[in-house]
Amino acid sequence: MAFPWTDFTLFVLLFILFVSVIAFNRITQTHKVYLVFHFIMMLWPLGQFAVKMTDFSGVQLFFINMSFVAMGMLGPGWLVFVFFLTGRVEQLRAGRIFIYILPALLCIIGALWNPHELFMSPVAGNYLDRIYGPLFWLLVLIQFTYFFTALMNMFHALKTVSSINQRKQLATALIGMFVLTGFGLLDVLVNVLLAQWLPVVPGLLASGILLSDLCFVIAIYRFGMFDILSMAQRDIFEHMTTGIIVVDENGKVLEVNRGASPFVQSAKGETFEMEKFLAPLQTQGEVYEFLYRYLHHPYEKMQMEFSLHENAGRHVSIQISPVLDDRKTLLGRIITFHDVTELRKLVVEMNRKNEALHERNLELITIQEELFRVNQKLEQMAVTDGLTGCFNRRYLMQQLEHEVLLNMRYQIPFSIFLFDIDHFKQINDKYGHLVGDEVIRSTADIVRTKLRRTDILARYGGEEFTIYLPHTNREQSELLAERIMLAVGDNWVDAGTEKVHVTISMGVLSESSEDLSFDDPKEYLREVFSSADSALYKAKNEGRNRVVMAR
Ligand code: GH3
Ligand code: MG
Ligand code: MG
Repeated sequence: MAFPWTDFTLFVLLFILFVSVIAFNRITQTHKVYLVFHFIMMLWPLGQFAVKMTDFSGVQLFFINMSFVAMGMLGPGWLVFVFFLTGRVEQLRAGRIFIYILPALLCIIGALWNPHELFMSPVAGNYLDRIYGPLFWLLVLIQFTYFFTALMNMFHALKTVSSINQRKQLATALIGMFVLTGFGLLDVLVNVLLAQWLPVVPGLLASGILLSDLCFVIAIYRFGMFDILSMAQRDIFEHMTTGIIVVDENGKVLEVNRGASPFVQSAKGETFEMEKFLAPLQTQGEVYEFLYRYLHHPYEKMQMEFSLHENAGRHVSIQISPVLDDRKTLLGRIITFHDVTELRKLVVEMNRKNEALHERNLELITIQEELFRVNQKLEQMAVTDGLTGCFNRRYLMQQLEHEVLLNMRYQIPFSIFLFDIDHFKQINDKYGHLVGDEVIRSTADIVRTKLRRTDILARYGGEEFTIYLPHTNREQSELLAERIMLAVGDNWVDAGTEKVHVTISMGVLSESSEDLSFDDPKEYLREVFSSADSALYKAKNEGRNRVVMAR
């Protein structure tokens, strides 16, 4: 009987495929380690079974060797797997794992090599009956050492773990290990040590492997052993402050978390009735519309905010989302409740603050405008004379310093008038100072009517005035001076019972554009005013009420 290599190879390939599908899918690392380990464990009963299917000693040897490879890997496999289970990651570095596997590896090499039949020898050329040598016993001893170490680790972990669920998992896994170790010992005892006296009991170790595997499968399914993700999801779902109810298409509650209890009392299996839930809220604005949409448009996402009837201060946002399958059929709905009271308060507070800020802003704008006006007024006051509204002397001199420089640079002719009211003391003496003031004001007014906007009329002192006239040559200034003098002379001012009028004397200085040249504008202006003053003085001396041209 030839060994069915094709079938066997196909079996191995299929198995590798099975393992790799699991290994490359979205399951946890621990799952993968377990599955690889599970695969190795399966090789023991497979080898035990296969060895009995053939009479060829060579083929038998192959399967027996396969069994011993599996058995050899069982101990370190368990140990490493227990490290995984108990979260002892520091033991899982590649170097460490190699050290743990090394003794088993050496035993396996010894078993395969079988030097001088030190591991085992066939009885009558047949491997169905075997005599075991010292290497075999070394392998057994090492295996039990592995199991013992793994058991100690489990015990230790069981003592330190706090979560009840995790403890249940570990306890179940521990039972599995005990069973395996027990069956292993029994196998060695019955089928090897006492083989001569007791009948052979087949499949003892294999049964142990099966039972321990079973324990693991229970731990995995009942306690979700490796399912960290779903455990985490469960935990989040249960402990989040948002209330969540999952209902099927008929409104039956499939899942409800603790966060939902302040809002609804529906338990798993009961029917959640939106009409009943919303009944106490009927008076609130959008409730009717919301209920209508909930009942008639189950595929729609919807959201509404309401305040609780028994706790009117609290605002709750309710949200409905449909749960659809791949073909867009409605499976159920997720209803969430979210307490938005704090958010609401914040919004109200923020609106209030915004309004206050807006008001304050308006106030500030008003104050700013007021300030602007006052400033303007102050600026005006700083440059004008209170009685006449003309510019004051300081302003005039400031402006002139600038103007004469421009005039020099661009060769602009200009004129300066300096005039003084004649015999003004007499007005004061005869009519009093108030009338005197009125005469000064009125004189300034009448002079102003004769000027251009670009001319500057300034009160030079007492009843003395200056006029600056840019772009004005000698002829023009002479004409204008005469006109001003005549206008003042014709200006009658109320002095109580009678009317008075005054005359003025004027000194005029005209600067033509060609001979305008100076270094220091201040010094130059002093000279200009000195000349104008001399002319005015001359006008007074020559009998007053006249214009005298300077230079
Ligand atoms: P003259 O023709 O030589 O100029 O004779 P006058 O009397 O006008 O002499 P002067 O110009 O020297 O006198 C100016 C007088 O003007 C002196 C002062 O009492 C008076 N005066 C100066 N400022 C004011 C003012 O603001 N209001 C009033 N009412 N009088 C003023
Ligand atoms: Mg005078
Ligand atoms: Mg004077």
